[in-house]
Amino acid sequence: MNGYGLDERLTALGRQAREWSVGFRAGALALDEDPGRIKDFLDLPGVRCLGTFGIPPGYAEPLTIGRHRYAGTTALERAVLTENLARGDMGMVLASPGVSMSGVLMEQLGDEEQRDRFYGAVAASPTWTSFALTEPDRGSDASAITTALRRGEDGRLLLTGAKRYIGNACRARFVSVLARTRPGPLGVTAALVDTGEPGYRAEPLPTLGLRGAQLSAVHLDDVEVEPWQVLGRHLSPARRGIWSCVQVFNRLRPTVAALALGVAAAAHEYVAERRRSATGTDRDRIEDLGMRISATRALVHRAAAEVDATGRGRVASAAKARACALAEDATLAACDLLGPAARANHPELDKLVRDARGAEFMEGTRNIQHLNLFQGLLANELEGDFR
Ligand SMILES: Cc1cc2nc3c(=O)[nH]c(=O)nc-3n(C[C@H](O)[C@H](O)[C@H](O)COP(=O)(O)OP(=O)(O)OC[C@H]3O[C@@H](n4cnc5c(N)ncnc54)[C@H](O)[C@@H]3O)c2cc1C
Repeated sequence: MNGYGLDERLTALGRQAREWSVGFRAGALALDEDPGRIKDFLDLPGVRCLGTFGIPPGYAEPLTIGRHRYAGTTALERAVLTENLARGDMGMVLASPGVSMSGVLMEQLGDEEQRDRFYGAVAASPTWTSFALTEPDRGSDASAITTALRRGEDGRLLLTGAKRYIGNACRARFVSVLARTRPGPLGVTAALVDTGEPGYRAEPLPTLGLRGAQLSAVHLDDVEVEPWQVLGRHLSPARRGIWSCVQVFNRLRPTVAALALGVAAAAHEYVAERRRSATGTDRDRIEDLGMRISATRALVHRAAAEVDATGRGRVASAAKARACALAEDATLAACDLLGPAARANHPELDKLVRDARGAEFMEGTRNIQHLNLFQGLLANELEGDFR
């Protein structure tokens, strides 16, 4: 790393992903129309890459570009890959098979047997996975979950409850379900559910944006959980409860910021190509967007480097809040610059506007990121220019 720029190795990753994003853009509207079409895109190199990115060495061959290798197990690698693929289509990134959020949870909580089973299955063939925390009416307040993991009368562990807005849950083979074993922050545990188990049901929800991600409602009706499926069983309750969720979110937040940044960059590129001869305030607006994108990219990289070094996600909250605001501003400005019927005449841009709104809600809204950032300020955890 040079300042908050990228070294040669990460630059090569970004360049490669940018090339792959052309295929994502070409398929974006078809996937938006029918999320089931992801099956037609499994051979795209970017989709294949996401299928194993984040699987630790030993379970799958790391991505190789020239003389460099990338396992995808750092926040900075994930942010660089994700932004550049999302410039093609954020929906395709979210619709792709792979370890995604469950992989980060597994890094935190998985023991050897759990890692063998989970990574082994995902490495063997394209496999979708999901992470189920949000419940109906209890989104931002993650600690208020009520899905229960309890012993039935016959001694079996059973999961009961409902989850909502869970990406890919209706096509996933594994879903990491956050559930409560007792009241209080230490009473939260994650279970790796095999969706083939009786009692698991998921149905897609109609959404305006990010339709490829196939957000789903999940019903858990006495789903049996075997002892090996309880994540963090070798750790103390303090390490596997809400603490583990915070760790996962800290590590994922730069990736979500990078997704939003990719949408902003795509909208900027779209309008800049079509308004090459813009003058006056129009040209200033396009240039200003370009500068905001570069500044936000530096912040996203800084946030990812910080979380890799310390596990802390305060700067990542600033990056996520700023990237989501930028995605909204850039997509709406692009519409404005292309005239009154822009959304009707430019379906690709219309999709970017819809997707930007979806990014705002993923992994905590801007209000929640601001709260996290200011808690960091009060706790004196932020340095230099954040003070
Ligand atoms: C594209 C997408 C993918 C998603 N994928 C997943 C997934 O894979 N797994 C998963 O578990 N969930 C997922 N979610 C759900 C997401 O995490 C929730 O939507 C999010 O946590 C917000 O919860 P909510 O929708 O219930 O909104 P609410 O929590 O009801 O919030 C509504 C509004 O109230 C504001 N608000 C809430 N609390 C406060 C507060 N304390 N202070 C100030 N303002 C507040 C919010 O900022 C927001 O504007 C996904 C959502 C989207 C859009």
